[in-house]
Amino acid sequence: MPRPRLAAYPFFLPMTSAADTFFTRLMARKGQPLLIAGPCSAETEAQVMATAHGLRALGQVDLFRAGIWKPRTRPGSFEGMGTAALPWLQRVKAETGLPTTVEVATPRHVEDALAHGIDVLWIGARTTVNPFAVQALADALAGTGVPVMVKNPVNPDVALWAGALERLERAGITQLAAIHRGFSTFAPSRYRNAPTWILAIELKTRFPHIPLICDPSHIGGRRDLLLPIAQKALDLDYDGLMIETHPDPDHALSDAEQQVTPARLGEILAELKYRRRSSDNADYNSKAEELRQKMDVADREIIEALARRMALVEELAQYKKANNVKILQLDRWHEIFASRPDWAARVGVDEKFVGELYKLIHLESIRKQTEVLNGRPVDGVTHLGPGL
Ligand code: PEP
Ligand code: MN
Repeated sequence: MPRPRLAAYPFFLPMTSAADTFFTRLMARKGQPLLIAGPCSAETEAQVMATAHGLRALGQVDLFRAGIWKPRTRPGSFEGMGTAALPWLQRVKAETGLPTTVEVATPRHVEDALAHGIDVLWIGARTTVNPFAVQALADALAGTGVPVMVKNPVNPDVALWAGALERLERAGITQLAAIHRGFSTFAPSRYRNAPTWILAIELKTRFPHIPLICDPSHIGGRRDLLLPIAQKALDLDYDGLMIETHPDPDHALSDAEQQVTPARLGEILAELKYRRRSSDNADYNSKAEELRQKMDVADREIIEALARRMALVEELAQYKKANNVKILQLDRWHEIFASRPDWAARVGVDEKFVGELYKLIHLESIRKQTEVLNGRPVDGVTHLGPGL
């Protein structure tokens, strides 16, 4: 199959290194996080054009998004306009100069989108979960040089997210970005998709060269959560935001509750605080350095206290072993979880935080005791529990 010709866009110049991509060039030029905006779904040509012109007028949008093929949870919902909407996006680019991006889930989508000059593609959360689907996309994308954004999988599994990026990298797709859109959860939550920020931070540490973009629309699921989520992402040093916009959000055919008008997006952007990564103020720098050194000392004390605690645990385990006593003593567990948060509150440390910390410390204690009782090493504790 002949490779589709890529649209003439200045960022499609040959890239010279892993860190030199469509995304990083835009970021370097802008000196601010990237902004991707546009409707959840392309519904009509008029709706797409009204959104695009409204966004262009803000002067801050870098990439125009629109869903064409919509993966819906239940059949019978609006499933997108399909290929018929692609010429509308060509018109967006011609009239506003904004590059465009659509979600692709199959090789056929890739072919259609590229044949219509779409500049950037993204892989949705429901596709990232499926390595077969991701591999099929990677194969279809090989050799195209097109920039691709990968949303996190629906389930909170960083390995799947990382795996999708690796499949693309192996196919020679080096212009990559990751989009954090939150994770499905069983637990009641104020969010539509729990952000579980730690997972996105973990991805960022594994792929420091890949820009990380936050999607407050799908995390929040509600207009009033867009600003706090976007602010949090900026404070966590994200590289960009993707926010759904619609000229008449209440009547949108998909995700009506979370879309905002381009004008409202402008207000949200004006309210965001762009804090700096560092400062050239000498006073700030010397004070920050002094505080960090004091924190280093405090951290050493914490670790030394943990070492003392774990040595006591080991001694107790030997004692239990000699007396044929079980590891888990529920009364003791209850006592720890009642007393430690209480002690914390008395010295002004957050009780819930200390409760969580003691869950981990207790798991590590159990792991250590298991080692002593079994007489062989046991895998270390992770945030998901001990490798018993
Ligand atoms: C979208 O961006 O419109 C979308 C379908 O998102 P997600 O894949 O994050 O659910
Ligand atoms: Mn949506």
